[in-house]
Amino acid sequence: MYNQNFYYKIQENLLQSLEIIKSKIIFWWILNIKTQTLTVSRKPAIVFAPHQDDETLGCGGLIALKHELETPIKVVFLTDGQKSHLHIKPEELIQIRKQEAVNALKILGIASSDIYFLDYMDGSLMQLSKEERYRMINQLAQLLQSFQPDEVYLPHRKDKHNDHQATYDLVQAAFIESKVQVEVFEYPIWLFWNDDTQLFEFNLQEMDDSYNLCIKSVYNKKQRAIKAYHSQCQIFPSSFLRQFFIPREIFFKRPIQN
Ligand SMILES: [Zn+2]
Repeated sequence: MYNQNFYYKIQENLLQSLEIIKSKIIFWWILNIKTQTLTVSRKPAIVFAPHQDDETLGCGGLIALKHELETPIKVVFLTDGQKSHLHIKPEELIQIRKQEAVNALKILGIASSDIYFLDYMDGSLMQLSKEERYRMINQLAQLLQSFQPDEVYLPHRKDKHNDHQATYDLVQAAFIESKVQVEVFEYPIWLFWNDDTQLFEFNLQEMDDSYNLCIKSVYNKKQRAIKAYHSQCQIFPSSFLRQFFIPREIFFKRPIQN
């Protein structure tokens, strides 16, 4: 019995290690071989981010490049980020993260007047009540209608975090509600990162239409903006953060929404 359990454990660990290696290979493949080159455009854009840090990790270079082209860009945070640290009071943490977002985005060229905090509870987006969901979709649709972006950036539909997948779904619903026509780019945050608890679960077809944006000229700004998120840099695993300290960003372009 003991031996059997021992071998099962070894088998399980081996399978997990293989999954982790697989995700690293796919990330490398997407980054170096699979992707087409993306050129930053002057099209007005909205970046939707579930938490204060996703916009910088996933799109920090893009935001800085667009700013340098004097392109109008707005950043919308859906949650208040209050769950990242258990030992800090929620009200305090919300203020810390908001200030970090303002500081990080200032480095990337975004004024605080172009940042929107919708303040839904961190971790709740998958479990919104019918009324909350309706209110959220309306808020997102109003932002889309008033700003009329040509491009929208949002987390990858399979990003391995409930709030990230919910953000994708809520923004999709807002596209229908607002009837705006936009080009959609999905950015990966947790998609390629594997540890023992979050294994890789998507098929290669979902890797189609991947684009690679060179952010070399603004890489220093992105590095500084990530570091402006002091509270988050303290808790992220270093292997996770390393994915964003590279002079490129990955996006998945989807058909125009209407
Ligand atoms: Zn997030």
